[in-house]
Amino acid sequence: MTKKQKKPLELYIHIPFCARKCLYCDFLSFRTLAAVHEAYVEQLIREIEAEGASCQEYQVVTVFIGGGTPSVLEPELIRDVCLAVRRAFDVAQDAEITIEVNPGTLLQNKLHIYRAAGINRVSIGLQSADNRELENLGRIHSFEEFLKSFQCARMAGFANINVDLMSGIPGQTLESWRNTLKKVTMLKPEHISAYSLIIEEGTPFWDRYGAGCEKTAAKSAHQPGTCPGEAPDRFGLRRRDYPELPDEEEENRIYHLTRTFLAEQGYERYEISNYARPGFACRHNVGYWTEVEYLGLGLGASSFLGGCRFCNERDLERYLGLDFAAEDWAERLRPQFTRLSREARMEEFMFLGLRMIRGISEIDFVATFGVKLDSVYGPVIERLVKNGLLRREGVWLSLTEWGMDVSNFVLGEFLLTSA
Ligand code: SF4
Repeated sequence: MTKKQKKPLELYIHIPFCARKCLYCDFLSFRTLAAVHEAYVEQLIREIEAEGASCQEYQVVTVFIGGGTPSVLEPELIRDVCLAVRRAFDVAQDAEITIEVNPGTLLQNKLHIYRAAGINRVSIGLQSADNRELENLGRIHSFEEFLKSFQCARMAGFANINVDLMSGIPGQTLESWRNTLKKVTMLKPEHISAYSLIIEEGTPFWDRYGAGCEKTAAKSAHQPGTCPGEAPDRFGLRRRDYPELPDEEEENRIYHLTRTFLAEQGYERYEISNYARPGFACRHNVGYWTEVEYLGLGLGASSFLGGCRFCNERDLERYLGLDFAAEDWAERLRPQFTRLSREARMEEFMFLGLRMIRGISEIDFVATFGVKLDSVYGPVIERLVKNGLLRREGVWLSLTEWGMDVSNFVLGEFLLTSA
């Protein structure tokens, strides 16, 4: 099979370790010993080798090393992972290879080793330029440490840097957010992701701000539940000491400022929460939103391959105990496989594609499913266009500004299967 005939594949590599858990985080990540880092990477490399052997009909077009915090690992371990990927897979010469880093863990020599290992994009998790807000989030770094990391990344030769920001966080105001945007855009990163904080169940923030708590009762449609009372929580804070979340009106102002401010600074919004200078949209994420197949490697990593979704083992001990030389390694690694129905794939096509500002193409829909878009979604589209939530231009269907403001509602209209 020639390279021209190979199918594109994205790789996601999960490093589940962090220096400390942030207060809002529900990702699969934890703190552990350096000895475990080594054992994990050795096992990850075994997985990479086993998977590579069964993916010969693919060419890898993007690699994303995420977490967790990949930069807590010794940089030589990251280099070993990159070498293993290149040995096991056919990696395109111009592949986009990203690593997520946390300013509190970053040292200049790590960045040089990443560059030498072929990594060409760095994604730095900043969240806010306000040190008090960073503290409120439980982040391990200051804005000054971020600045140092950013400069080190430039000095190491990275010409493609993303900065992650977060809105709607405790203590944030329109002015502090404006200040964050100003300070970050002055550095001219190629890409900015600006997501809103989501209060996830099971996190310390859920105890403080989750559904039912007084402070979020106005923002939440949930029924009142139990709240921590006046007793100090596990961080020694009483409820009255918790910094306030911005209210709904302030959050709306923050959301609209993001769009206008970043546009003025030359950033094109190409997805609901992602902005880039021309030519720097994240290829890995665009692939995900446009249904390029992807393979997740490492603890708890999820994949979309051959029309199926599956997720790797999430228990570290069990993952480390897997035998990748055994015949049944794949079944043991991911016991649950979901073959998506045609309807479920259509829904995903719409949900993911409409997150992109350009929207979805009717031609792509026909090419993927063999039927016209209107034969499946005609009445829904007509109604949403009439209500000013969707726009139809030629073969493209996209969200209007208002549609983006209420995207959860609009995307929900494309459900075909009962949730
Ligand atoms: S650094 Fe990222 S993955 Fe780690 S705890 Fe914080 S938010 Fe979670």
